Amino acid sequence: MGYEYNTDNIFAKILRSEIPSKTVIETEHSLAFEDINPQAPVHVLVIPKGPYLSYDHFAKEASDQEIVDFNRTIGEVCRICGVQADNGGNGFRIISNTGEHGVQEVPHLHVHILGGRWLGRMLSNV
Ligand code: 5GP
Repeated sequence: MGYEYNTDNIFAKILRSEIPSKTVIETEHSLAFEDINPQAPVHVLVIPKGPYLSYDHFAKEASDQEIVDFNRTIGEVCRICGVQADNGGNGFRIISNTGEHGVQEVPHLHVHILGGRWLGRMLSNV
């Protein structure tokens, strides 16, 4: 079964500048911006500019340039936000919720970068 991307989602609207966002960094293929409902002192979303639903969709169909750009942007956000574990920060967590079981709200690939406080164990029991 193919991936069916719907251009009506909120992050597609942010990419088209139809709704505002607070940019952390923008590159040729990626955009990082602050989450509107932060769960930690650092809560940044990183998205590819291309129309990808999920991490597996991106890994399968994105170009090498998009994949490199996306991953380097994630690293750069960690540096900008001061959460690198080995460079003066106290670490962070990266999450990419996908589909129904992953409880994905917005159907455009995004990685959450969370940090700035102790985040507890990986999963809650609910
Ligand atoms: P998901 O549950 O899909 O992994 O996470 C979606 C995230 O997008 C949530 O953390 C939510 O707060 C964030 N979000 C939803 N709408 C907006 C918006 O309009 N602007 C920004 N900056 N973040 C949003």
